[in-house]
Amino acid sequence: MGARPQFIKAAALSRAIAATHAGPQAIQEKILHTGQHFDAAMSDQFFVELGIPEPAFHLGIGGGSHGANTGRMLEAIEAVLLAEQPDALLVYGDTDSTLAGALAASKLKIPVLHVEAGLRSFNRHQPEEQNRVLTDHLADLCFAPTNTAVAHLQREGIAKERIVRTGDVMADAARIFGELAEARAAELLGSGILQGLIGAEQPFLLATIHRAENTDDPARLEAILTALGQAPLPVLLPLHPRTRARIAEHGLEPLLGKLTLIEPLGFLAMLLLERRAALVVTDSGGVQKEAFLQGTPCVTVRGETEWVELLKCGWNRLADPADPAAMLTAMEQQLGLDPLQQRPPLYGDGYAAEAIVVRLQQL
Ligand code: UDP
Repeated sequence: MGARPQFIKAAALSRAIAATHAGPQAIQEKILHTGQHFDAAMSDQFFVELGIPEPAFHLGIGGGSHGANTGRMLEAIEAVLLAEQPDALLVYGDTDSTLAGALAASKLKIPVLHVEAGLRSFNRHQPEEQNRVLTDHLADLCFAPTNTAVAHLQREGIAKERIVRTGDVMADAARIFGELAEARAAELLGSGILQGLIGAEQPFLLATIHRAENTDDPARLEAILTALGQAPLPVLLPLHPRTRARIAEHGLEPLLGKLTLIEPLGFLAMLLLERRAALVVTDSGGVQKEAFLQGTPCVTVRGETEWVELLKCGWNRLADPADPAAMLTAMEQQLGLDPLQQRPPLYGDGYAAEAIVVRLQQL
Protein backbone atom coordinates (compact mmCIF):
# COMPACT_ATOMS: atom_id res chain seq x y z
CA MET A 1 0.00 0.00 0.00
CA GLY A 2 1.08 3.58 -0.38
CA ALA A 3 -1.81 6.03 -0.58
CA ARG A 4 -4.42 7.41 1.80
CA PRO A 5 -7.45 5.40 0.59
CA GLN A 6 -5.39 2.21 0.90
CA PHE A 7 -4.55 2.91 4.54
CA ILE A 8 -8.26 3.23 5.30
CA LYS A 9 -9.12 -0.05 3.54
CA ALA A 10 -6.18 -1.73 5.29
CA ALA A 11 -7.41 -0.48 8.66
CA ALA A 12 -10.58 -2.55 8.24
CA LEU A 13 -8.85 -5.65 6.92
CA SER A 14 -5.86 -5.62 9.29
CA ARG A 15 -8.25 -5.80 12.26
CA ALA A 16 -9.97 -8.85 10.82
CA ILE A 17 -6.58 -10.46 10.10
CA ALA A 18 -5.41 -9.74 13.65
CA ALA A 19 -8.60 -11.38 14.97
CA THR A 20 -7.45 -14.70 13.42
CA HIS A 21 -4.52 -14.82 15.86
CA ALA A 22 -6.79 -16.19 18.58
CA GLY A 23 -7.86 -19.16 16.44
CA PRO A 24 -6.30 -22.23 14.77
CA GLN A 25 -5.88 -20.62 11.32
CA ALA A 26 -3.89 -17.52 12.17
CA ILE A 27 -2.79 -15.31 9.29
CA GLN A 28 0.39 -13.31 9.64
CA GLU A 29 0.34 -9.97 7.89
CA LYS A 30 3.37 -7.88 6.98
CA ILE A 31 2.68 -4.43 5.60
CA LEU A 32 4.77 -2.91 2.84
CA HIS A 33 4.45 0.88 2.49
CA THR A 34 5.74 2.09 -0.88
CA GLY A 35 5.94 5.72 0.24
CA GLN A 36 3.61 7.08 -2.47
CA HIS A 37 1.98 9.27 0.20
CA PHE A 38 4.64 10.03 2.73
CA ASP A 39 3.81 13.06 4.87
CA ALA A 40 2.17 13.08 8.28
CA ALA A 41 -1.20 14.42 7.08
CA MET A 42 -1.57 11.92 4.23
CA SER A 43 0.04 8.89 5.84
CA ASP A 44 1.28 8.76 9.44
CA GLN A 45 -1.88 10.06 11.09
CA PHE A 46 -3.90 7.17 9.60
CA PHE A 47 -1.59 4.52 11.07
CA VAL A 48 -1.83 6.09 14.51
CA GLU A 49 -5.53 6.99 14.53
CA LEU A 50 -6.83 3.79 12.93
CA GLY A 51 -4.44 1.42 14.70
CA ILE A 52 -2.90 0.02 11.49
CA PRO A 53 0.13 -2.18 12.26
CA GLU A 54 3.51 -0.53 11.66
CA PRO A 55 4.80 -1.31 8.13
CA ALA A 56 7.47 -4.01 8.13
CA PHE A 57 8.91 -2.47 4.96
CA HIS A 58 9.06 1.17 3.93
CA LEU A 59 10.34 1.81 0.41
CA GLY A 60 10.24 5.61 0.50
CA ILE A 61 9.34 5.85 -3.20
CA GLY A 62 7.18 8.82 -4.12
CA GLY A 63 7.17 12.20 -5.77
CA GLY A 64 8.18 10.95 -9.26
CA SER A 65 6.23 10.41 -12.48
CA HIS A 66 3.91 7.40 -12.89
CA GLY A 67 6.49 5.48 -14.89
CA ALA A 68 9.41 6.25 -12.59
CA ASN A 69 7.43 5.43 -9.44
CA THR A 70 5.95 2.21 -10.81
CA GLY A 71 9.33 1.03 -12.11
CA ARG A 72 11.18 1.77 -8.88
CA MET A 73 8.45 0.11 -6.83
CA LEU A 74 8.43 -2.96 -9.05
CA GLU A 75 12.13 -3.53 -8.47
CA ALA A 76 12.00 -2.84 -4.74
CA ILE A 77 8.88 -4.96 -4.11
CA GLU A 78 10.42 -7.87 -6.02
CA ALA A 79 13.44 -7.79 -3.68
CA VAL A 80 11.17 -7.88 -0.62
CA LEU A 81 9.10 -10.74 -2.05
CA LEU A 82 12.21 -12.76 -2.87
CA ALA A 83 13.52 -12.32 0.66
CA GLU A 84 10.19 -12.96 2.42
CA GLN A 85 8.60 -15.64 0.22
CA PRO A 86 5.03 -14.83 1.31
CA ASP A 87 2.12 -17.21 0.62
CA ALA A 88 0.30 -14.37 -1.12
CA LEU A 89 0.46 -10.66 -1.86
CA LEU A 90 -2.66 -8.60 -1.21
CA VAL A 91 -3.10 -5.25 -2.94
CA TYR A 92 -5.76 -2.55 -2.57
CA GLY A 93 -7.51 -0.33 -5.09
CA ASP A 94 -5.97 1.31 -8.12
CA THR A 95 -2.77 3.25 -7.46
CA ASP A 96 0.72 2.82 -8.92
CA SER A 97 1.58 0.87 -5.74
CA THR A 98 -1.24 -1.59 -6.54
CA LEU A 99 0.00 -2.29 -10.05
CA ALA A 100 3.66 -2.52 -9.07
CA GLY A 101 2.85 -5.02 -6.32
CA ALA A 102 0.62 -7.15 -8.53
CA LEU A 103 3.17 -7.28 -11.34
CA ALA A 104 6.11 -8.08 -9.05
CA ALA A 105 4.26 -10.93 -7.31
CA SER A 106 2.72 -12.44 -10.41
CA LYS A 107 6.12 -12.71 -12.16
CA LEU A 108 7.38 -14.59 -9.10
CA LYS A 109 4.29 -16.86 -9.17
CA ILE A 110 3.18 -15.55 -5.79
CA PRO A 111 -0.65 -15.45 -5.67
CA VAL A 112 -2.01 -11.92 -6.09
CA LEU A 113 -5.17 -10.95 -4.23
CA HIS A 114 -6.92 -7.73 -5.25
CA VAL A 115 -9.22 -5.93 -2.84
CA GLU A 116 -11.70 -3.58 -4.57
CA ALA A 117 -11.54 -5.47 -7.86
CA GLY A 118 -13.84 -4.95 -10.84
CA LEU A 119 -14.35 -1.19 -10.65
CA ARG A 120 -14.48 0.52 -14.00
CA SER A 121 -14.80 4.16 -15.04
CA PHE A 122 -14.32 3.15 -18.71
CA ASN A 123 -12.05 6.18 -19.03
CA ARG A 124 -8.89 4.57 -20.36
CA HIS A 125 -6.82 7.74 -19.97
CA GLN A 126 -7.30 7.74 -16.21
CA PRO A 127 -4.22 6.33 -14.41
CA GLU A 128 -6.48 4.64 -11.83
CA GLU A 129 -8.40 2.82 -14.61
CA GLN A 130 -5.16 1.55 -16.17
CA ASN A 131 -3.93 0.30 -12.80
CA ARG A 132 -7.15 -1.45 -11.83
CA VAL A 133 -7.75 -3.20 -15.17
CA LEU A 134 -4.20 -4.55 -15.28
CA THR A 135 -4.27 -5.61 -11.63
CA ASP A 136 -7.57 -7.48 -12.02
CA HIS A 137 -6.13 -9.44 -14.93
CA LEU A 138 -2.96 -10.30 -12.98
CA ALA A 139 -4.84 -11.27 -9.82
CA ASP A 140 -5.46 -14.86 -8.75
CA LEU A 141 -8.38 -13.69 -6.64
CA CYS A 142 -10.48 -10.61 -7.31
CA PHE A 143 -12.38 -9.46 -4.22
CA ALA A 144 -15.27 -7.52 -5.76
CA PRO A 145 -17.24 -5.05 -3.62
CA THR A 146 -20.51 -4.98 -5.61
CA ASN A 147 -22.58 -6.92 -8.13
CA THR A 148 -21.63 -4.34 -10.76
CA ALA A 149 -17.95 -5.06 -10.14
CA VAL A 150 -18.57 -8.82 -10.48
CA ALA A 151 -20.34 -8.22 -13.81
CA HIS A 152 -17.41 -6.15 -15.14
CA LEU A 153 -14.93 -8.89 -14.30
CA GLN A 154 -17.07 -11.58 -15.90
CA ARG A 155 -17.53 -9.49 -19.04
CA GLU A 156 -13.74 -9.22 -19.36
CA GLY A 157 -13.44 -12.99 -19.30
CA ILE A 158 -12.06 -13.41 -15.80
CA ALA A 159 -12.88 -16.95 -14.67
CA LYS A 160 -15.71 -17.37 -12.16
CA GLU A 161 -13.50 -19.12 -9.62
CA ARG A 162 -11.19 -16.10 -9.48
CA ILE A 163 -14.02 -13.73 -8.49
CA VAL A 164 -15.27 -13.43 -4.90
CA ARG A 165 -18.06 -10.99 -4.07
CA THR A 166 -17.24 -9.75 -0.59
CA GLY A 167 -18.96 -6.40 -0.07
CA ASP A 168 -16.93 -3.25 0.35
CA VAL A 169 -14.26 -2.82 3.02
CA MET A 170 -15.03 0.92 2.95
CA ALA A 171 -18.45 0.08 4.41
CA ASP A 172 -16.59 -1.80 7.16
CA ALA A 173 -14.40 1.26 7.77
CA ALA A 174 -17.46 3.53 7.95
CA ARG A 175 -19.15 1.13 10.40
CA ILE A 176 -16.15 0.62 12.68
CA PHE A 177 -14.76 4.14 12.67
CA GLY A 178 -18.10 5.99 12.37
CA GLU A 179 -19.01 4.83 15.88
CA LEU A 180 -15.61 5.80 17.21
CA ALA A 181 -15.84 9.19 15.53
CA GLU A 182 -19.22 9.94 17.16
CA ALA A 183 -17.86 8.92 20.55
CA ARG A 184 -14.94 11.32 20.11
CA ALA A 185 -16.88 14.10 18.32
CA ALA A 186 -16.26 16.84 20.89
CA GLU A 187 -12.51 16.26 20.82
CA LEU A 188 -12.33 15.89 17.01
CA LEU A 189 -14.31 19.04 16.27
CA GLY A 190 -12.80 20.96 19.16
CA SER A 191 -10.38 22.96 17.05
CA GLY A 192 -11.29 26.53 16.07
CA ILE A 193 -12.46 26.37 12.45
CA LEU A 194 -14.50 23.18 12.71
CA GLN A 195 -16.12 24.18 15.97
CA GLY A 196 -17.06 27.54 14.47
CA LEU A 197 -18.86 25.90 11.55
CA ILE A 198 -20.35 22.88 13.20
CA GLY A 199 -20.91 24.27 16.69
CA ALA A 200 -23.06 27.01 15.16
CA GLU A 201 -25.11 24.26 13.49
CA GLN A 202 -24.86 26.23 10.31
CA PRO A 203 -25.44 24.05 7.22
CA PHE A 204 -22.21 23.65 5.28
CA LEU A 205 -20.81 21.94 2.21
CA LEU A 206 -17.81 19.62 2.47
CA ALA A 207 -15.62 19.45 -0.65
CA THR A 208 -12.58 17.36 -1.67
CA ILE A 209 -10.77 17.71 -4.99
CA HIS A 210 -7.66 15.77 -5.91
CA ARG A 211 -8.01 13.77 -9.18
CA ALA A 212 -5.23 14.58 -11.65
CA GLU A 213 -7.77 15.11 -14.46
CA ASN A 214 -9.25 18.00 -12.41
CA THR A 215 -6.19 19.46 -10.69
CA ASP A 216 -3.72 19.33 -13.58
CA ASP A 217 -6.01 21.09 -16.07
CA PRO A 218 -5.93 24.80 -15.10
CA ALA A 219 -9.28 25.55 -16.79
CA ARG A 220 -11.04 22.74 -14.93
CA LEU A 221 -9.51 23.60 -11.58
CA GLU A 222 -10.54 27.21 -12.12
CA ALA A 223 -14.10 26.15 -13.01
CA ILE A 224 -14.39 23.95 -9.90
CA LEU A 225 -13.07 26.64 -7.56
CA THR A 226 -15.39 29.18 -9.20
CA ALA A 227 -18.40 26.92 -8.62
CA LEU A 228 -17.40 26.27 -5.00
CA GLY A 229 -16.96 30.02 -4.49
CA GLN A 230 -20.57 30.57 -5.62
CA ALA A 231 -22.02 27.58 -3.74
CA PRO A 232 -25.26 28.14 -1.82
CA LEU A 233 -23.59 27.16 1.50
CA PRO A 234 -20.29 27.87 3.26
CA VAL A 235 -17.66 25.51 1.86
CA LEU A 236 -15.12 23.55 3.91
CA LEU A 237 -12.26 22.27 1.73
CA PRO A 238 -9.58 20.00 3.23
CA LEU A 239 -6.82 20.45 0.69
CA HIS A 240 -4.99 17.48 -0.82
CA PRO A 241 -1.29 18.38 -1.28
CA ARG A 242 -1.55 17.95 -5.08
CA THR A 243 -4.44 20.41 -5.26
CA ARG A 244 -2.65 22.92 -3.05
CA ALA A 245 0.40 22.73 -5.32
CA ARG A 246 -1.62 23.11 -8.55
CA ILE A 247 -3.61 26.09 -7.20
CA ALA A 248 -0.30 27.84 -6.54
CA GLU A 249 1.18 26.80 -9.91
CA HIS A 250 -1.86 27.97 -11.88
CA GLY A 251 -2.13 31.22 -9.86
CA LEU A 252 -5.69 30.44 -8.70
CA GLU A 253 -5.39 31.73 -5.11
CA PRO A 254 -7.73 34.69 -5.79
CA LEU A 255 -10.60 32.16 -6.18
CA LEU A 256 -10.16 30.85 -2.65
CA GLY A 257 -11.48 33.94 -0.85
CA LYS A 258 -14.88 32.52 0.12
CA LEU A 259 -13.74 28.98 0.91
CA THR A 260 -12.58 27.68 4.28
CA LEU A 261 -9.36 25.81 3.56
CA ILE A 262 -7.95 23.31 6.03
CA GLU A 263 -5.17 20.71 6.06
CA PRO A 264 -6.13 17.13 5.06
CA LEU A 265 -8.18 15.64 7.90
CA GLY A 266 -7.78 12.44 9.84
CA PHE A 267 -10.32 9.78 8.92
CA LEU A 268 -12.44 10.11 12.06
CA ALA A 269 -12.88 13.86 11.61
CA MET A 270 -13.59 13.31 7.92
CA LEU A 271 -16.35 10.80 8.66
CA LEU A 272 -17.94 13.17 11.16
CA LEU A 273 -17.89 16.06 8.72
CA GLU A 274 -19.36 13.88 5.96
CA ARG A 275 -22.19 13.03 8.33
CA ARG A 276 -22.81 16.61 9.50
CA ALA A 277 -22.48 18.26 6.07
CA ALA A 278 -25.65 19.22 4.16
CA LEU A 279 -23.90 18.32 0.90
CA VAL A 280 -20.65 16.73 -0.23
CA VAL A 281 -18.94 17.83 -3.47
CA THR A 282 -16.03 15.64 -4.50
CA ASP A 283 -14.02 13.90 -7.18
CA SER A 284 -12.91 11.16 -4.77
CA GLY A 285 -14.07 7.57 -5.18
CA GLY A 286 -14.16 6.81 -1.46
CA VAL A 287 -15.86 10.04 -0.42
CA GLN A 288 -18.82 9.44 -2.79
CA LYS A 289 -19.61 6.21 -0.99
CA GLU A 290 -18.95 7.53 2.48
CA ALA A 291 -21.35 10.44 1.90
CA PHE A 292 -24.04 7.89 1.01
CA LEU A 293 -23.20 5.68 3.99
CA GLN A 294 -23.49 8.74 6.26
CA GLY A 295 -26.80 9.80 4.66
CA THR A 296 -25.49 12.94 2.93
CA PRO A 297 -26.24 13.73 -0.73
CA CYS A 298 -23.28 14.13 -3.06
CA VAL A 299 -22.26 15.85 -6.29
CA THR A 300 -19.33 14.24 -8.09
CA VAL A 301 -17.40 16.63 -10.31
CA ARG A 302 -16.27 14.12 -12.91
CA GLY A 303 -17.46 12.93 -16.29
CA GLU A 304 -18.04 9.42 -14.97
CA THR A 305 -17.93 7.37 -11.80
CA GLU A 306 -17.08 3.78 -10.92
CA TRP A 307 -19.85 3.80 -8.30
CA VAL A 308 -22.78 3.88 -10.74
CA GLU A 309 -25.29 2.43 -8.29
CA LEU A 310 -25.24 5.73 -6.36
CA LEU A 311 -26.38 7.61 -9.47
CA LYS A 312 -29.25 5.18 -9.96
CA CYS A 313 -30.61 5.65 -6.44
CA GLY A 314 -30.19 9.45 -6.61
CA TRP A 315 -27.75 9.93 -3.70
CA ASN A 316 -25.03 11.00 -6.12
CA ARG A 317 -25.15 13.12 -9.26
CA LEU A 318 -22.40 13.81 -11.81
CA ALA A 319 -21.60 17.38 -12.85
CA ASP A 320 -19.27 18.55 -15.61
CA PRO A 321 -16.11 19.83 -13.88
CA ALA A 322 -15.51 22.26 -16.75
CA ASP A 323 -18.86 24.01 -16.28
CA PRO A 324 -19.52 26.09 -13.12
CA ALA A 325 -23.21 26.55 -13.95
CA ALA A 326 -23.73 22.79 -14.29
CA MET A 327 -21.99 22.17 -10.97
CA LEU A 328 -24.13 24.80 -9.22
CA THR A 329 -27.33 23.33 -10.67
CA ALA A 330 -26.33 19.87 -9.48
CA MET A 331 -25.62 21.24 -5.99
CA GLU A 332 -29.09 22.82 -5.80
CA GLN A 333 -30.70 19.59 -7.04
CA GLN A 334 -28.87 17.43 -4.50
CA LEU A 335 -29.69 19.82 -1.66
CA GLY A 336 -33.33 19.13 -2.50
CA LEU A 337 -32.92 15.37 -2.02
CA ASP A 338 -35.32 13.92 0.55
CA PRO A 339 -33.10 12.96 3.51
CA LEU A 340 -35.42 10.04 4.23
CA GLN A 341 -34.91 8.67 0.73
CA GLN A 342 -34.10 4.98 0.95
CA ARG A 343 -30.47 3.87 1.12
CA PRO A 344 -30.28 0.35 -0.28
CA PRO A 345 -27.53 -1.92 1.15
CA LEU A 346 -25.32 -1.49 -1.92
CA TYR A 347 -21.95 -2.10 -0.30
CA GLY A 348 -22.62 -5.14 1.84
CA ASP A 349 -23.23 -5.46 5.54
CA GLY A 350 -20.02 -3.84 6.83
CA TYR A 351 -18.27 -7.21 7.26
CA ALA A 352 -16.44 -7.50 3.93
CA ALA A 353 -13.09 -7.89 5.74
CA GLU A 354 -14.35 -11.02 7.51
CA ALA A 355 -15.47 -12.48 4.14
CA ILE A 356 -12.00 -11.79 2.70
CA VAL A 357 -10.30 -13.41 5.70
CA VAL A 358 -12.40 -16.58 5.32
CA ARG A 359 -11.18 -16.84 1.72
CA LEU A 360 -7.56 -16.19 2.77
CA GLN A 361 -7.78 -19.06 5.23
CA GLN A 362 -8.66 -21.38 2.34
CA LEU A 363 -5.51 -20.52 0.35
N1 UDP B 1 -10.06 11.42 3.56
C1 UDP B 1 -9.54 11.76 4.80
N2 UDP B 1 -9.17 13.08 4.98
C2 UDP B 1 -9.33 14.04 4.03
C3 UDP B 1 -9.87 13.67 2.77
C4 UDP B 1 -10.21 12.33 2.56
O1 UDP B 1 -9.41 10.92 5.67
O2 UDP B 1 -8.98 15.21 4.29
C5 UDP B 1 -10.44 10.03 3.34
C6 UDP B 1 -11.86 9.83 2.89
O3 UDP B 1 -12.72 9.80 3.98
C7 UDP B 1 -11.81 8.52 2.12
C8 UDP B 1 -10.40 8.50 1.58
O4 UDP B 1 -9.67 9.50 2.28
O5 UDP B 1 -11.95 7.41 2.98
C9 UDP B 1 -10.48 8.83 0.12
O6 UDP B 1 -9.25 9.02 -0.37
P1 UDP B 1 -8.98 9.85 -1.68
O7 UDP B 1 -10.11 10.79 -1.91
O8 UDP B 1 -7.60 10.41 -1.52
O9 UDP B 1 -8.90 8.73 -2.80
P2 UDP B 1 -9.95 7.94 -3.67
O10 UDP B 1 -11.02 7.39 -2.78
O11 UDP B 1 -10.48 8.90 -4.70
O12 UDP B 1 -9.15 6.86 -4.30
